[in-house]
Amino acid sequence: MQTNFSLAQLADAATRESEAILRKCVHCGFCTATCPTYTILGDELDSPRGRIYQIKDMLEKGGPPPESTVKHIDRCLSCLSCMTTCPSGVHYMHLVDHARAHIEATHSRPPADRAARDLVARLLPNPRLFRLALLGAALGRPLRGLLPKRLSAMLALAPASVPPPSPSDRPGVHPAEGPRRKRVALLIGCAQRVLAPQINEATIRLLTRHGVEVVVSKGADCCGALTHHMGKEDLAHASAKATIDSWTREIEGEGLDAIVVNASGCGTSVKDYGFLFREDPAYAAKAARVAGLARDVTELMDEIGLAAPVVATGQAIAYHSACSMQHGQRIKEPPRALLRAAGFVVREIPDAHLCCGSAGTYNLLQPELAGELRARKVAAIESTRPDAVAAGNLGCITQIAAGARGGARGGAGGGAGGGTGLPVVHTVELLDWATGGPRPEALAGRAAFEGTAESAAG
Ligand code: SF4
Ligand code: SF4
Repeated sequence: MQTNFSLAQLADAATRESEAILRKCVHCGFCTATCPTYTILGDELDSPRGRIYQIKDMLEKGGPPPESTVKHIDRCLSCLSCMTTCPSGVHYMHLVDHARAHIEATHSRPPADRAARDLVARLLPNPRLFRLALLGAALGRPLRGLLPKRLSAMLALAPASVPPPSPSDRPGVHPAEGPRRKRVALLIGCAQRVLAPQINEATIRLLTRHGVEVVVSKGADCCGALTHHMGKEDLAHASAKATIDSWTREIEGEGLDAIVVNASGCGTSVKDYGFLFREDPAYAAKAARVAGLARDVTELMDEIGLAAPVVATGQAIAYHSACSMQHGQRIKEPPRALLRAAGFVVREIPDAHLCCGSAGTYNLLQPELAGELRARKVAAIESTRPDAVAAGNLGCITQIAAGARGGARGGAGGGAGGGTGLPVVHTVELLDWATGGPRPEALAGRAAFEGTAESAAG
């Protein structure tokens, strides 16, 4: 693609990078067929190629973009399906990240839109505030029908009750069982530890059982992914820097063999830290070192090898590969191979390349499109007739579970009924259970998983 940036514009590192990306695009349009928003809306402006043109135009002109450009960029899920499809190696992720930061810096959003985005950006990465907000959401649930669409969607996704904080998430060291094979740091995350503390607990049990010492490092809380994808660079960089500093102390102290991430959306961001801080002399080297150590928990377990299952597995599991897992990190086989090694039958979901609509904060900020994508995903999952669904990213787990329990066809959490109540769990919860941990609570009372809890305790 031809570009027309001035020399002054190209003095800016981000613009230089985007220009190089834009020049790789040959307008072939292969990416449109695999783009979820184009699949639903059928509008070229909501396709990757259409968005690339709009970003080029916006960056070349500089200054505030037209409303329509903001609308079409906001509708992008950052699912990166287009990157998997593109034969020319266009790095759409870095391009759209730059576009979002440009919009955030130059565009004045309507007050309600700004307020919703600020609320999400402040609440979700702060576990204390997020917990309080969820408790408040439980009280506000009866008023859902009276609220604006976005607030209603937020309430629909909020759980009916909030689990207490897990002691596992406190800074400290979880020693390996038996001889120590590896020493790793675990990203305990922000929203995940509030909504689903059992995921970190299962991860720690699974790793320590396999001879891995797990460090929960003080200050390594939020990776900055949520705010980064909203274009809020200052907030994102502050979170990422605190996390990098914390892990750097561990690396330079007792040392780390890996940094384990059990939310693939966060993993994609941590693996990109080297790029994010490439122009920052104080952080470039530290960030690249941290990025080089980052591993999804299934990558690490695949390397270590899973112990033989100790419970009667064999249930059919529909494995949902999060976009950040399959497109962002290009991890495909390890989670499936581990589930099979644990004795489960892995069912492939049709149109697995399409996003479930979670996409970080997308289901909160674009509830209608997210609801449509969720309905399609839940129908595709149900067509495989599984006993449960497994995924490696909390956003997808929350999104699919909300659809499976009856909100799939109403958009914005819908509540139209008809859901199967299919349990949705994190992959590590199944691996932990199969190798000696407790049965995931979501599986309790499910016929296919009954009669196996006793042997799990042994
Ligand atoms: S990231 Fe996803 S939604 Fe955005 S343009 Fe690419 S395929 Fe479409
Ligand atoms: S597939 Fe790649 S080169 Fe072709 S239009 Fe899409 S981004 Fe451009």
